[in-house]
Amino acid sequence: MQLFQAPPITRFDLNFSLFGFQVRVSPFFWLIALLFASGSRNLLHILLLIIVIFLSILLHELGHAFTLRSMEQESQIVLYQGGGLTIPEERSWGYSVARVGLSPAQDVLVAVSGAGAGFLMVLLLTIIVYFFGGTVSMAFLFGFIPFPQLFFPLGGSILSIFLGAFVSVNIFWGVFNLLPVNPLDGSTVMRHILQHFDPVNGYRKTLWVSVICGALVAFASLVWGQLYIAFLFGYLAFQSFQAVRR
Ligand SMILES: [Zn+2]
Repeated sequence: MQLFQAPPITRFDLNFSLFGFQVRVSPFFWLIALLFASGSRNLLHILLLIIVIFLSILLHELGHAFTLRSMEQESQIVLYQGGGLTIPEERSWGYSVARVGLSPAQDVLVAVSGAGAGFLMVLLLTIIVYFFGGTVSMAFLFGFIPFPQLFFPLGGSILSIFLGAFVSVNIFWGVFNLLPVNPLDGSTVMRHILQHFDPVNGYRKTLWVSVICGALVAFASLVWGQLYIAFLFGYLAFQSFQAVRR
C-alpha cells in the first residue's frame, strides 16, 4: 500500500505554478479535505474549510520550498491524501543527475520551515487583528499548546469565520507535522538529534520513537473519534516497526 508516496499523475490533477514552484493537486487531496470538513452541517462552512485546508497545507509546503530555494535547491509541491510533499528537483551535473546533499543543520531547517511558515502566518494575523481593534486571548490546546483565539471586529462575517478556521488549521497542521513520527518533519529533526549523539544507533532509535509515538497518537485519535487520523498513525507506526526489524 503506497499511501504516502506521491500518487500517480491523472487527468483530474490540478496543476499550476506558484512563485516559480510547480504545484500538483491530486483528486484524493480534495476527498480527504472533504472528509475533515464534512463535520460541519453548513454547506458554506464545508466549502470554506476545504479552501482553508488547501491554503494551509500549500503554505506549509511553500515554507519548505522557499527554504530549499535559499539553499539553491528547486522543488515541486504535491498535495495528496497524506497532506503535502515538497520534492527536491534533480538537476544535471554535466552527464549525471544529482540532488544537492544538504548538511544535517540545513536538513533540520528545511524540516521545521513548513510548520514555521504556518506559525508565522498565525503570528502575523494575530498582530493584524490586534492592530485593527480585535481581541486576542490565549487558549491552550490539549492543555499545553498555546492557541490564540482571535475575535475579529467583523462580527460573524464569512471573512471572520475564514480567518478563525485558517488560524486553527495552521496551528493544528504545524503541531501535527512536528510529531516525531516517520516520515513527518518532526521525525527528520528527531533523527538528526539522535544521530548527532549516537551515529551508530541513532536511526534505529528514531524508528522506535516513531513506533511508540505513532501508536500513542493512533490510540488517542481512536478515543477522540478521529478514525482517519487513527488509521494514518497506526499505519505509520506499523511502517516504522517493519523498518526497525530490517
Ligand atoms: Zn512539512
